[in-house]
Amino acid sequence: MTNQQLSELIYPSLAHSADEYEAMYPARKLPEGAKVTRLGPSPTGFIHLGNLYGAFVDERLAHQSNGVFFLRIEDTDDKRYVENAVETIITSLEFFDIKFDEGATLTGDIGDYGDYTQSKRGDIYQAFAKKLISEGKAYPCFLSEEEIFDIRNRQEAEKLTPGIYGEWSRYRDWEGNDALAAEIESKIKAGEPFVVRMRSKGTPNLSAEETPRHTVIDAIRGELSVPDNFQDIVILKQTGIPTYHFAHVVDDHLMRTTHVVRGEEWLPSLPIHVELFEDLGWELPIYCHTAQLMKVGEDGNKRKLSKRLDPELSLDFYRSEGYHPVAVREYLLTILNSNYEEWRAENPDSPVDDFEFTTEKMSSSGALFDLNKLNDVSKNALLHIDAKELASWLRSWSDEFAPEFGYVFEDMDYLAEILDLGRHDARPRADLVYARQIMDFISYFFDESFKIEDEYPAEAAADASEILSRYLDSYDHSDDNEQWFNKIREMATEMGYAAKPKDFKKNPNDYKGHVGHVSTVIRIALMGRAQSPDVWAIQQLMGEDKVRARLEAAVKEN
Ligand code: GLU
Repeated sequence: MTNQQLSELIYPSLAHSADEYEAMYPARKLPEGAKVTRLGPSPTGFIHLGNLYGAFVDERLAHQSNGVFFLRIEDTDDKRYVENAVETIITSLEFFDIKFDEGATLTGDIGDYGDYTQSKRGDIYQAFAKKLISEGKAYPCFLSEEEIFDIRNRQEAEKLTPGIYGEWSRYRDWEGNDALAAEIESKIKAGEPFVVRMRSKGTPNLSAEETPRHTVIDAIRGELSVPDNFQDIVILKQTGIPTYHFAHVVDDHLMRTTHVVRGEEWLPSLPIHVELFEDLGWELPIYCHTAQLMKVGEDGNKRKLSKRLDPELSLDFYRSEGYHPVAVREYLLTILNSNYEEWRAENPDSPVDDFEFTTEKMSSSGALFDLNKLNDVSKNALLHIDAKELASWLRSWSDEFAPEFGYVFEDMDYLAEILDLGRHDARPRADLVYARQIMDFISYFFDESFKIEDEYPAEAAADASEILSRYLDSYDHSDDNEQWFNKIREMATEMGYAAKPKDFKKNPNDYKGHVGHVSTVIRIALMGRAQSPDVWAIQQLMGEDKVRARLEAAVKEN
């Protein structure tokens, strides 16, 4: 039996040969320097910040260079498949404004390099496995789980690297061994299950100095020195489904990916990929191995973000809390590129896509994620979004995630004015962070959600009732800000409070408190809280009726 005969015996009737597939996936016609990137999520039902982080890199590299960014669904691990996971991936990424040019969509594939779902590419992987077998670079392996377990135990006892390789691989060297060749042939004819393994050219168990090394370019990490592989890794499982390694190499070659952006957990598999690309006679893509997302844990030490401990790892968290995609994008760029914040400070009003993203400015040692920082970035990012636009974005968030806030959206002009409060001051107020927080922040504008949250300041609590009645009596909705405040100051001094906080500080025994304590009583009666934007402006927005009703209710309470 020759290698060629073995390959024919295993795959007698594939739709196309490897060469035909090569012709069906020609080099892309793109301008010089255009990058082709892909996101290859597995449909496990959990789409996380790491996916989004990688997706931003892919998207920027492709779109900054007039290239192509596509979505490939990597569903070769059937055990982990979750219903509707593909929909989740697509809609979550859409929410963050990640736009693909090609690939899987909710209504089928777009683009000439599909299928874009690995489970539909079985014939293609088999055609390339057949080619490797016909060239003696791969072989069928019939080892059972027990046999593999036994091999591993023996290797452990001999302190050797575990795995199927070299002399440990019973079916590897059948050429020139007629008995073994006959056994393999009869096993295949009998329909016995087997996996296909790469026949590695590497020499097993060399010392570190003896191990040949390859130079591989990583756009984030620079030149990598990758040791020779010697493991006969599985390329096709018993089911004919490829392993990640084989699918990656075949797909990224055929789909003409120029830059493979993926997590650093794949670095240890790079020797395998280098050998597979070489065996197939293909050029390596440029790898971009991104750093792990870390956070400062409860004990003050850096640790990986964890699915179990950190709700903020899941993209659902940002959607259901209502983080604006612009804010998340802005924040991710600050951790993606070390020079982003400086650029943003110099270009506060430029569209985010004007920033030139580079892989060289990415950290290779762990990107630190910090929710408080995201909140700060978000506060500023929201300042740049027009209030009307923000209002309608909030409405669509509420429709999907928080319909209980429906009453907030009955008068969209009112809502826009509320959101705009204090945003155009010389030092704009940056109170708005994310939708759920905004609903709470503006809750006092609506009777449905108004509640007294804070207590009257101790300095003025005893006088609360009198302060509120006097304020109500003198209230004139047409007073301007200055007239309004003068009245409060007058009332405060009449009642024994200092007109200025600093007078009270200087001579605390001369006063009950100061004008701020008096106005806080009013603020709490109207807004239920001791902190809020400018009271006069809020009253103007709320309207006279609501102001009077709140004050009357508060007087009654006291
Ligand atoms: N399906 C792989 C994963 O989810 C993708 C890795 C890659 O981008 O190559 O980890």
